Parts: sequence; C-alpha cells; structure tokens
Amino acid sequence: MNRRLSKPFTPYYRGRFAPSPSGPLHYGSLLTAVASYLQARCNHGCWHLRIEDIDPPRQQKGAVRQILTSLRAFGFDWDGPVRYQSQRLAYYQHIAAQLYKDQLAYYCQCSRKQLSSSPEARLGRNYRGNCREMELAPLAGRSLRMRVGTDHVAFNDGVFGRQNYDLQADSGDYVIYRADQLPSYTLAVSLDDIHEGYTELVRGADLLHLSARQLHLMQQFTPQPVQFMHVPIITDSSGQKLSKQNHASALDTRHRSFLLYSALKDLGQEPPKYLSRRSVANIWDWAFSRWQVSLIAPEMMIKQGF
Ligand code: GLU
Repeated sequence: MNRRLSKPFTPYYRGRFAPSPSGPLHYGSLLTAVASYLQARCNHGCWHLRIEDIDPPRQQKGAVRQILTSLRAFGFDWDGPVRYQSQRLAYYQHIAAQLYKDQLAYYCQCSRKQLSSSPEARLGRNYRGNCREMELAPLAGRSLRMRVGTDHVAFNDGVFGRQNYDLQADSGDYVIYRADQLPSYTLAVSLDDIHEGYTELVRGADLLHLSARQLHLMQQFTPQPVQFMHVPIITDSSGQKLSKQNHASALDTRHRSFLLYSALKDLGQEPPKYLSRRSVANIWDWAFSRWQVSLIAPEMMIKQGF
C-alpha cells in the first residue's frame, strides 16, 4: 500500500495543545499550554486544540467542558474547531489493519501480568518480542505491536537538545492497538499529528521518551515528520508530579493573572513581578514580545510551592 497519508500544505508554523480529559486542567498543563501557544503565535503560526478522548476508563465526566472553560478564562484563542480523537476511531483501526497487512505489525498474546513478571521486566527492560515470529491471528484480547528494527531514532528537542534512542532496547516492539480494542496513544497521536499537519509538538517532558516511538511510527508515513519541544513538568511541594490522575488541583481562574505570571516564570521568561497583578491581556502582550525558548531550563521537573 502507499502509506503516505494526506497531509495539509503547511507553509508556516502549526502547533497544538492536546489535553486528555482525565480531569480538569492543572498548573502543569497550563505550563505546557502557555509554551505551545507562545511558540505558535511568536512564530506567526496557528494553534489548534485537540481533545485526546480515546481512553474512556481514564476519562472524567465534565472534564472537556472544564478544560475549554479554563483555557478561555486564561485568554487562549485557538484556531478552527476543537478536534476530538473519539471521532476518528474508525480511521485508527483502518490504519492499524493496514500496518498488520503490510507485516509491519503483529499480534501479541502476552498479558500485562505475564509481561510485568518476565525476567526482562524485572531488569527494567521492555518487550523482547516474545510473539514476533508466532504469526498469531487477530483475535480478541490480543494487542497489535509495531516491529522495531535495530536503528536508533535521533532528534533534536527544542529544549532538551539531542536525543538518541535505541528503540529495541528502550521499548522493544511497541503497542499500536491495545488488547481492549482501543488505539494506543502512540498510534492516535502520530496519525493525528500527520493529518493535522503540525510542524512542532510542544508538550510535557514526561512524554519525551515516547517521542522516539512516535517518530518511528510517523516515519512509516512521511519522511519529514515533525519537530519536538518538551517543557519541564511540575511537581507539587512534596515532589510528586502534578497530573490529572494524581488529582492535581484544578486551576483556580480567579487567580489567573498570578498563575499565568508564574507559568512564564517557570518557563524561565523572567516576567517582572508587577505583571502578576495585571490583566491576562496585558500579560499575554508582554509574553508575545519577550518569548524566548532558549530561556527554558532543560530540567525534567520543577518543584512548585502551590
Ligand atoms: N494528551 C496528552 C496529555 O494530556 C498530551 C499528548 C501530546 O501532547 O502529545 O498529557
């Protein structure tokens, strides 16, 4: 098959913010949204919003509405309609079937329990290709894995610099379609990022290690996938990563100026203190004229006191 996917013509920067509705936006997501928005607008590009709602067990009722309301309250202004991954399930399934047909992917019957108790997992290594040569049929309860070769995947991250991954050692053949019949994060995000034509993906550093897989998958369809820029993630005062699953507190939009100011500060932009008492519009104006990626510290985590 011709695996080239149709890709919009992109004469300029295209960026996006892609929250999962597993809870309301927290301060860590605000940091990512601010960085991706400023990157897009300061590069005279467009900025889109995509809701990654393909994992129902991890979704929280009302989260989509809360996310959109907080983004608006913080003055984010996205281009075009909001996109929803849940509307593209048939497409992900179709492409997964094509990859299987082309023998680039194979079915795996190993259960999570089996894998986590394997000697490799105990050594901290990932999937070693147990089912690679078994030619298993596509039965319910089996996952679909992409074959990885011995080539390394390298890319330059906008904040963390040169990254080099040995996919075979780091992840092994990775899942593109889950045993519970849902597309994997890697499959959905890769297909959408190609289809929607983004030129750079700005997201949290917790996803840095997944970018090698994403690039590997995207390269099956397009020779020039995308640039990456990962921003530090935020921990709470006890050192735990802020995440929706950890029930990080929702952004309190009554304090939006202070929170926006703090996000700029944590992104290394050195905003003057008085800005924390200005309007959201004033803060954005300041940020549009000062944004500099080189000021972001390449640290995996930044500890916040609130
Ligand atoms: N949906 C992911 C999250 O909420 C982000 C995915 C991405 O930006 O690629 O953490």
